[in-house]
Amino acid sequence: MLTPGSTIGILGGGQLGRMLAVAAAQLGYRTHVLAPEADSVAAQTAASLTRADYHNRIVLADFAAACDVVTYEFENIALGPVEWLAERVPVHPHPRALAAAQERIAEKRFVERVGGRPARWAAVDSRETLIAALDHVGTPAVLKTARFGYDGKGQMRLHGPADADAAWEAIGGPAVLEAFVDFSHEFSILIARGQDGATVRYDPPQNVHVDAILRTSRVPAPQPILDQAEEATALACRIAAELDYVGVLACEFFATADGPVFNEMAPRVHNSGHWTIEGAETSQFENHIRAICGLPLGSTALTGSAVALENLIGDDAWQPALTEPGAHLHLYGKGAARPGRKMGHVTRVQR
Ligand code: AMP
Repeated sequence: MLTPGSTIGILGGGQLGRMLAVAAAQLGYRTHVLAPEADSVAAQTAASLTRADYHNRIVLADFAAACDVVTYEFENIALGPVEWLAERVPVHPHPRALAAAQERIAEKRFVERVGGRPARWAAVDSRETLIAALDHVGTPAVLKTARFGYDGKGQMRLHGPADADAAWEAIGGPAVLEAFVDFSHEFSILIARGQDGATVRYDPPQNVHVDAILRTSRVPAPQPILDQAEEATALACRIAAELDYVGVLACEFFATADGPVFNEMAPRVHNSGHWTIEGAETSQFENHIRAICGLPLGSTALTGSAVALENLIGDDAWQPALTEPGAHLHLYGKGAARPGRKMGHVTRVQR
């Protein structure tokens, strides 16, 4: 067990790191953020910041020496530096979880191996393989970059084979073609797994995306999701066990007439779990910190009868939440509001 007062290293400087640092501080831990950007919003709440490239070995050696444990707040980080750190300081979740989650082809193969069911898919690395993939997958379909996609970036819809050229032009690198899933709902499974393998699960939120960006998450989810949550949770637990996972793991699913279809996983705290700060006995951020520090995990019970999370995106107004009874406002300290940029969120707990 890492005693409070120890230092937790966080790779990545975004809002997830920011909220992890707040949860860590509440438990008496120090956080040290390593991020390349000038305006890291995680650094605003952390005890220390190293502003540097992830590939600088001198920086990494200093960072490893300064930290008692290291975690990461996004999966679009090169695997090499994380593996290098893991040889010098405990890194949770283990880099093998990052390897499984950060590349869509590896992710789908891994999930299929542990019994999960993604949408029909095929790997694509040229215009010719895209044409062959369209034959196998059919249309409508989505072409997604194999790496570095987020919030719908690096994705193109194909309505028919005639869209192949434009889609390849836009994506132009290693990619995955996925059948477009005819889903009734989207939901996620959020679990936290401790170093002793003990696992807790949150109520599965129903997630609504607009333009491929999460807009709202709600618990309790409607019945069609609850009917599929057991199967989806069992898969998330198998994924975690297979990876000997430590920390919060998020898996996104489509609810379909044939049961839960796996979309993607994130080896970290997740936007669809932000409601847990006020809506659950122990937030996803606190349980992640507890897990990586070897503390017992906390209760995930709801604090009310229903909880709703609304993202504040672009120039969405945040002021009304200040005077709304029961609304909890979180702003991420980002400068300029750009279209599609997540600026904060509001959580509403119904008692
Ligand atoms: P992703 O970044 O892959 O999670 O995609 C973002 C959002 O785009 C998802 O949450 C869905 O709303 C939509 N989407 C992605 N892939 C598919 C698919 N194969 N079928 C239907 N909708 C999809």
